[in-house]
Amino acid sequence: MNIFVVNCGSSSLKYQLIDSDSEQVVAKGLCERIGIDGRLTHSPAGKDKYESDKPMPDHKSAVSFVLEALTDSEHGVINDLSEIGAVGHRIVHGGEKFASSVVITDEVIKAIEECNDLAPLHNPANLIGISACRELMPNTPMVAVFDTAFHQTMPAKAYMYGVPFEYYDEYKVRKYGFHGTSHSFVSKRLLQLLGKEQGESKVIICHLGNGSSITAVKNGESVDTSMGFTPLDGLIMGTRSGSIDPAVVQFLAGKLNKSIDDILTILNKKSGVEGISGVSSDFRDLEAAANDGNERAELALEMFAYRAALYIGSYVAALNGVDGIAFTAGIGENNITMRRKIMGYLNYLGINLDEEANSKRGEELMISTADSKVKVYVIPTNEELAIARETLALI
Ligand code: AMP
Repeated sequence: MNIFVVNCGSSSLKYQLIDSDSEQVVAKGLCERIGIDGRLTHSPAGKDKYESDKPMPDHKSAVSFVLEALTDSEHGVINDLSEIGAVGHRIVHGGEKFASSVVITDEVIKAIEECNDLAPLHNPANLIGISACRELMPNTPMVAVFDTAFHQTMPAKAYMYGVPFEYYDEYKVRKYGFHGTSHSFVSKRLLQLLGKEQGESKVIICHLGNGSSITAVKNGESVDTSMGFTPLDGLIMGTRSGSIDPAVVQFLAGKLNKSIDDILTILNKKSGVEGISGVSSDFRDLEAAANDGNERAELALEMFAYRAALYIGSYVAALNGVDGIAFTAGIGENNITMRRKIMGYLNYLGINLDEEANSKRGEELMISTADSKVKVYVIPTNEELAIARETLALI
């Protein structure tokens, strides 16, 4: 069966059509600049890439262009829409309402809407994607897969903040965690590679990309994760600060004569390794600059590695041990130097780096030496495939 996986942002829409039998991508692509002008990039497997500027005043028009491209006689991969068996939608925030993926109904849409103020930039866009697809494919079953759901197993001692309890009661202020689809996918694969039963396992997943988070997974369930109420918390990221003393927000607002909103925009968009280095949020640029002697770029890389190592250490404590660690996402899968830097902090766990294995990029492999007490793997993440699997399982 073909499963259409949709990831709707505020002005973009990423999609993949995945054959659930072979788990191969039949076509994938991206609509950009929705609501501004509109551009479709469509890559059908085994055919030439197709790019086209098309007016996309809204998400419905973007979805209809994608469906046209999928069924087009030249660039298409299917004859008609009946060959799409189901749609899987990536939804950023499921709050406390969703601890797993669900088949989309009117009630589910209402419940997702109720989570909107927890993710005001993302959830409304996700919902627009759902309604556009429902209008154009009214009889096709659809599933919502949440970034937060995997972390709903965290115990209260991990997800509560040390603030008056009524803020949790009334406003649901707590840690939620994100990247759940990736952490779930990679942790399952890591257990297979370790040959471990889910029921007796302790692993740590490092999803290091432009947005980064680390999760402690015990017996297959998330027990703690580094992102919090929002994705701003935890690790230092491409442009996000990660955890800082919240008093800095008030202090900077006063010094810069800016609002709290302005400061949060700075912490989200102008901070992290980009803010520290003044060079870039892209780790390839940072490495090149550091190699040319740029000290702030080097500092940014050192800070990123140090913070990651601190989280790994704290999650070893949370799990009271660890059987295996996985690196995934853009940096985790490709950045040889960053993996080496982080693993340099982990010798106390009996982990040694296999330099030769670590010299490879983008493939699944063990990068700790065979005699390391704790095994470390690189495992490419595949959130779209994870969404397709969840969708198939539910319909
Ligand atoms: P993601 O958000 O998962 O797409 O990850 C993006 C990050 O991965 C960027 O900071 C890139 O610099 C980093 N990245 C991707 N490919 C490489 C590579 N070959 N070497 C180093 N870093 C890479």
